[in-house]
Amino acid sequence: MATQDTQLDAVAEREALLLAPYAMFSALSSGRKFAEPAHRYRGPFQRDRDRIVHSTAYRRLSGKTQVFTREMGDYHRTRLTHTHEVASISRTVGRALRLNEDLVEALALMHDIGHPPFGHAGEDVLDECLKDHGGFSHNRQALRIAEIIEQRYPEFPGLNLSYEVLAGQQTRINKHGAPERPLLEVQVVEAADSVAYDTHDVDDALQLRLLSMKELAEVPLWKQATERVGRRYQALDEGELRRAVLHELLDWQIGELLAVAQRRLETWNIDCLAAVRAADFVVAPEGELAELKAQLEKFLYARVYRNPLVVASRRIAQDQLRAMFYGYCQRPELMPESFRTRCDEYGLERSVCDYLAGMTDRFCQAEFTRLFAA
Ligand code: MG
Repeated sequence: MATQDTQLDAVAEREALLLAPYAMFSALSSGRKFAEPAHRYRGPFQRDRDRIVHSTAYRRLSGKTQVFTREMGDYHRTRLTHTHEVASISRTVGRALRLNEDLVEALALMHDIGHPPFGHAGEDVLDECLKDHGGFSHNRQALRIAEIIEQRYPEFPGLNLSYEVLAGQQTRINKHGAPERPLLEVQVVEAADSVAYDTHDVDDALQLRLLSMKELAEVPLWKQATERVGRRYQALDEGELRRAVLHELLDWQIGELLAVAQRRLETWNIDCLAAVRAADFVVAPEGELAELKAQLEKFLYARVYRNPLVVASRRIAQDQLRAMFYGYCQRPELMPESFRTRCDEYGLERSVCDYLAGMTDRFCQAEFTRLFAA
């Protein structure tokens, strides 16, 4: 049986073989808030990834809205399947750049666990309800979940994740205001998130007939991707063309992301973590493609996220969530004990918000009907 030291050696040996010098090596990790012995056969970031997958918050992503609520159909992405697409793209990019894939995966799987029911619509309501109590954001909630809310281990609250995973999530809060650049593993997930949602939101909106191929033909990024597809295939029917263009959008953007990153790594002489910290962003779209992507996002915002059907379904959910917030604040005894007991430490409003934010769309609607419907 391997001792802890030989296990650490095995992780270090594998990473020395696979990782680039600018990657985050497990041996360089700053560790965990509550010190734990190394695991017998898993490296620290692999363990973080597993802790996230086994958490309650992660499981509930399957019942949470990404953009479109479940009443609208069963084709479109949920928060969980979005997360899987982000993890898939992140791992592809991470492996090609020889980064720490375990860390990349942990960051990708964690990136949206703080989302409340009903996506950004739910987030806006909770932020409004908590305006005098510190506000609400899904990125900050992900940290609360990881550090306080999940209760899985007798020794400590939360998941006791490695410092690098928590710091990566913290970067999503600070965005570009941080003094030093995040790890490349963090940059990869950020870029992959955006490639994933731009592409799958187009796909979902087409399926829901909120958009037509004809309208999309006016969007330059879609138009150029269609031309690229046309060079490879001739007569495609509409369904074939749609799938081919969506595939091209992913492949093109990911290929470009990699090309840009590889060029920057070389020309900026990035050969260690300190160089990553000091340089500008390495993994980010640039030039014409970045411009085209921004135009697509503008189009999506106007035509999909602000679509009257989407807005209407959102408004009902928002009214329910708001009523529930004030309802539970008036009658905290309706909450489970684990949330009631946290009121002393974190305040009533924050604890109600933690409870609501953890709910799936369906549970939230059922509890509204059961407890608060007039
Ligand atoms: Mg996301």
